[in-house]
Amino acid sequence: PKTEAAPAPQQRTPRSGIMDFQNLPGYQELRLQRSMAAVVGLDNPFFRLHETAAGATTVIDGKRFVNFSSYDYLGLNQHPEVRAAAHAAIDVFGTSASASRVVAGERPGHRALERDLAAHYGQEDCVVFVSGHGANVATIGAIMRPKDLIVHDALAHNSIVLGAALSRAERRSFPHNDVDALDALLTSLRGQFERALVVVEGLYSMDGDSPDLARLVELKQKHDAWLMVDEAHGLGVLGERGYGLFEHAGVDPRDVDIWMGTMSKTLAGCGGFIAGPTALVEYLKCMSGGFVYSVGLSPPLAAASAAALAIFRREPERVERLRQVCRLFLDRARARGLNTGASSGHAIIPVLVGNSVSAVALSQKLYERGVNVQPIIHPAVPERAARLRFFLTSEHSAEQICLAVDAVAESIEAIGESDFFGAVTGP
Ligand code: PMP
Repeated sequence: PKTEAAPAPQQRTPRSGIMDFQNLPGYQELRLQRSMAAVVGLDNPFFRLHETAAGATTVIDGKRFVNFSSYDYLGLNQHPEVRAAAHAAIDVFGTSASASRVVAGERPGHRALERDLAAHYGQEDCVVFVSGHGANVATIGAIMRPKDLIVHDALAHNSIVLGAALSRAERRSFPHNDVDALDALLTSLRGQFERALVVVEGLYSMDGDSPDLARLVELKQKHDAWLMVDEAHGLGVLGERGYGLFEHAGVDPRDVDIWMGTMSKTLAGCGGFIAGPTALVEYLKCMSGGFVYSVGLSPPLAAASAAALAIFRREPERVERLRQVCRLFLDRARARGLNTGASSGHAIIPVLVGNSVSAVALSQKLYERGVNVQPIIHPAVPERAARLRFFLTSEHSAEQICLAVDAVAESIEAIGESDFFGAVTGP
């Protein structure tokens, strides 16, 4: 039978004033930014189309690039066991859980992954959500109330801030990694509120640094607060075996009340998890809108992440390889005079370049030299702290690292000579 072609999209009649979508806050600035970039010949570095799995290398526009824009820290996204686990789950359960687990029920992979993650953190139980972002919003939003206090690091991820806003609790931030300031804040405020929650991240995604977990545990005990750690980037990366911030800091993971993490990075999947006491997990599974009213994690993704967790725990050599790659990058970058900020050299290494235009220009120069690395620009970071952000993986070779670092240093020198890019080498 003949199929009708879809009708061509029609130009809409503009709505007036603030009801026009063009007048959504910030949209005009975005368009202006894009047209200014086009005028000076800068391509949009975002939303590039990758034609293959993006790990240490990727293919864009038919060309292979050395890639630094993927969170596949231990190279498990293409691992044969991970793929086989996902395929096997599809064969039995299909691609979707088809409804909320409350309604559509469990698949074996859900509880298996939750058991493994709970055990990893020495916690009683765990619950997985379909998104890491959603896990933070749904959890913080569900456990905190207007008479409660949430204190988070100033660089906390957007999902932590949105969860706090949803809860309508009092929300305060403390200067990045400044535990003394956190102590002072809790001393002055704790008495005025019912519950208190301190939220930090294991490895900060913009700067690649970590908090002092031992001090945080002391403080949460001193001030009778809950401590929640977002391990999105820490799992598989920090600590001798990559077990995460607790291993890195030599702290008993049971001293943290709530471990949050994502399956989208080391675990080669998608979704978020909360590991903690049974009561918390039961509460979330019944009372958190983001869990109750959202589809269950897809069976192949649950199976893939369970496989990835098992592989990385079994093969600590992957973590060791990542550590060596990071050391090489950091040493070479510093030797070439690049500003790597506060990075501790664990998988995330920024190269600070000054302003947003310089960061985009530098990213483009590198792209032309076969290196795919994203610029991070205002408002994600302050304008003067625009940067290139390198995500390293255990699969990068020494040659790829040297090629990239040298290309950055040479490109900064090259474009630093023109007036337009002067800020690249500025303070
Ligand atoms: N927390 C942190 C610290 C993150 O960096 C991210 C995303 N990169 C998330 C939560 C959200 O995770 P996901 O992308 O898996 O939804």
